[in-house]
Amino acid sequence: MPIVNRVADLHGEIKAWRRDFHAHPELRYDVHRTAASVADKLKSFGCDEVVPGIGRTGVVGVIRGRKPGQKVVGMRADMDALPLEEETGLPYKSTVAGKMHACGHDGHTAMLLGAAKYLAETRNFAGTAVVIFQPAEEGGAGAAAMIKDGLISRFGIEEVYGMHNYPGIPLGQFAIRTGPMMAAADHIEINLEGKGGHAARPHLSIDTILVGAQIINQLQSIVARNVDPLEAAVVSICMFQAGHTDNVIPQHAKLKGTVRSLTPQVRELLHKRVAEVIEGTAQLYGATASLAYTSGYPVVVNHERQTEFAADIAREIAGAERVNTALPPVMGAEDFAFMLNERPGAFIFVGNGDSAGLHHPAYDFNDEVIPAGTSYWVRLAETALKG
Ligand SMILES: [Zn+2]
Ligand SMILES: [Zn+2]
Repeated sequence: MPIVNRVADLHGEIKAWRRDFHAHPELRYDVHRTAASVADKLKSFGCDEVVPGIGRTGVVGVIRGRKPGQKVVGMRADMDALPLEEETGLPYKSTVAGKMHACGHDGHTAMLLGAAKYLAETRNFAGTAVVIFQPAEEGGAGAAAMIKDGLISRFGIEEVYGMHNYPGIPLGQFAIRTGPMMAAADHIEINLEGKGGHAARPHLSIDTILVGAQIINQLQSIVARNVDPLEAAVVSICMFQAGHTDNVIPQHAKLKGTVRSLTPQVRELLHKRVAEVIEGTAQLYGATASLAYTSGYPVVVNHERQTEFAADIAREIAGAERVNTALPPVMGAEDFAFMLNERPGAFIFVGNGDSAGLHHPAYDFNDEVIPAGTSYWVRLAETALKG
């Protein structure tokens, strides 16, 4: 029986929690209702310690096994939703206008709560299981905030594991890889200053729209001509604002985008070349460019031994033929990377089946993932802490 029996019994209860979180989405660090509900549940399960307020609204639960042991393993879920309008029409759809659990963090939180309930009930392990519920995964670096608040040292976490659902991977199957699995995502904002003027006398102006367009094109030459073709890189300009009407050449333009990579070397190269190309191109046309280059989430790098261990647990739950350990890296980003920079561990995807994509208004976490996801957590804790 690959799915843990007791977890199968808990499925209905975990599903009800998931749908309650889904109906009440909260953003970034403002996950007060969700965090309070998580803390209440952890207390009701009889966790040895329940500590709220780690990284502002993060919650940590500590469960000690009934066998003697010193090892401490951390398991992490995220609690925040996204600022978009839900279009699912589900009976438990978002009750908050403009907010939606479109990344499945409702499911992640519910599955880890289910595992906490099982682990607090059975305690069939040696050492300590730490369940981590973080705020602000979606762009707020909640993982880094929890680390800054002493998450790792205060609870003595030695290894840390994370999980994300993945639309397009068959339901309940797992996928993972050793090494870089998700990208570093840096942010760029470019402010161009030219010389505004009458559209009929372009020779007397410096056209920020023309300059911005050239910059967008030139930036793509970095990916095509500076980065090794066998390495991965993304430069995407996703916002370009300039002008107000059809007969004025605009004085200013603003561009924003994302720069992504899978290694520190490529990340550094992109930073250098993006700055050079922007400055050089603006200069070529007589405009000035100011660039704000902000480091975002680092690369999610799975540690080899912990990845093999996580894959073994997944095989035990789903069957060997339903675990892909050769997943190609993806260029999405995930702030669990901060935790993997602190301690060895592994991040794994669990299939959400044929659903709408993450961050799509029709997306919904599939409750049929719960038995596999929760079983993965309980077996991982029991095996890592078998003494
Ligand atoms: Zn997301
Ligand atoms: Zn997510």
